[in-house]
Amino acid sequence: MSPAITDLVYLLAAVLFIFGLKGLTHPRTAVRGNLLGALGMLVAVVVTLLAQGIDYTLIVIGLVIGSAIGAILALKIRMTAMPQLVALFNGFGGGASVLVAGAYLVVRPDSAADILVATAASGLIGAVTFSGSLIAWAKLEELKAIRDVRFTGQQALNAALFLVCLGLGFLLVTQPASANLCYWGMVAVALALGVFLVISIGGADMPVVIALLNSYSGLAAAATGFVLSNNVLIISGSLVGASGIILTRIMCAAMNRSLANVMFGTLQPSGDGASADDVYATVKSTSPEEVAMLLEVASRVVIVPGYGMAVAQAQHSVSELAKLLQARQVRVEFGIHPVAGRMPGHMNVLLAEADVPYDSLKEMDEINSEMEQVDVAIVLGANDVVNPVARTDPNSPIAGMPIINVDQARTVIVIKRSLSPGFAGIPNPLFAADNTLMLFGDGRRMVTDIINALKEAS
Ligand code: NDP
Repeated sequence: MSPAITDLVYLLAAVLFIFGLKGLTHPRTAVRGNLLGALGMLVAVVVTLLAQGIDYTLIVIGLVIGSAIGAILALKIRMTAMPQLVALFNGFGGGASVLVAGAYLVVRPDSAADILVATAASGLIGAVTFSGSLIAWAKLEELKAIRDVRFTGQQALNAALFLVCLGLGFLLVTQPASANLCYWGMVAVALALGVFLVISIGGADMPVVIALLNSYSGLAAAATGFVLSNNVLIISGSLVGASGIILTRIMCAAMNRSLANVMFGTLQPSGDGASADDVYATVKSTSPEEVAMLLEVASRVVIVPGYGMAVAQAQHSVSELAKLLQARQVRVEFGIHPVAGRMPGHMNVLLAEADVPYDSLKEMDEINSEMEQVDVAIVLGANDVVNPVARTDPNSPIAGMPIINVDQARTVIVIKRSLSPGFAGIPNPLFAADNTLMLFGDGRRMVTDIINALKEAS
């Protein structure tokens, strides 16, 4: 295939990627956007494989093994473990960039300076992405040995490692004779940098880290595109890099973390606030029947889902509850916090799966401005995203994080199994507030019981 035709098809793939991203900006068009992006990738891969002089043996072996692993992972993964999978994908993307740029350097150690600069960028960013993503994966898997490893001087060490990487990258470009040695030395130091950058970052910042590593994986791929002079890799890597950074900024705003803090692995406050016993001294529990009675006389209800809804797989039941209430002329909306659950858009995906109309999904700011007019706020398996200490305790790990202000509703029902903390590991005074009633139990079971109680009462 001539280079001109290849580039033309690459352009088509790039257009499909861009329309795919556009589609992903709204839940209604997200599935189509995803398909367009996948189609673009298929086109790009096929055209690349049709290039002259390729030995297909290794490629076919790689495709078969990679596709089998990917298919098994995609089929078996629990929705609640999706962020871990995303972290692994980011890491493998970074690792692939390191290997491709490194392999190219072995074949062409005498490349022009611009190619060598791109090789160094690919190795540095790719290696940080690889090791950082593995640490993020281990943290999300809650491996005890990995969580919250912090020591003094960590930021100075990170800065020193980064400078060593830059130095080795400089030598790689200026001393072609030892380019391979410098490259792999830089990769080794960058792997350590990735570990130290992510290992200190506390739980509450993890969504930002995942988005940032996603962006890094794109930047590494774009750099590899320059190494290989492959236009579609440059374009797709840049799109991932740019969209990852945009997502990072959105997540930063949602978590009230600055990007600089996250990038340099700022230590989080330890969260040694009030003890759970003190906070929970005045907790009141309720029953599904009592909740049904409250809902019968409510005219406006807001449901705030969180990670527990995903664990309980309660999205279908909650959708049924919403429909039941709407049929009784109750205004029902869902308040969606941008970091509820364990991945960006987690709640939107689950609720869309359960056919909850998009118009009833309200963003945090929108619902907060009307919370005082809400009769009953049902918090379903959410904890950190409704924790008022974010507003009141500057030493809390979630200090300053915007929350959904359910405490301002007339009555709050919190459905969860116990008084256990959420992801940030801190008590939640909302559970003991005067206007809060706790409904202890599995999310799906409790919602089903409320539905049954409502039906029995009518
Ligand atoms: P939280 O993790 O704060 O709380 C979830 C609550 O769900 C728990 O307190 C748990 O309580 C309850 N729960 C668990 N299983 C069930 C069940 N079967 N039925 C009912 N309840 C259940 O979740 P939020 O969504 O409020 O907050 C998200 C947190 O995750 C934030 O701290 C965010 O920073 C972090 N995070 C977000 C990511 C993202 O991209 N969205 C990625 C990584 C982390 P109990 O055990 O008592 O039932």
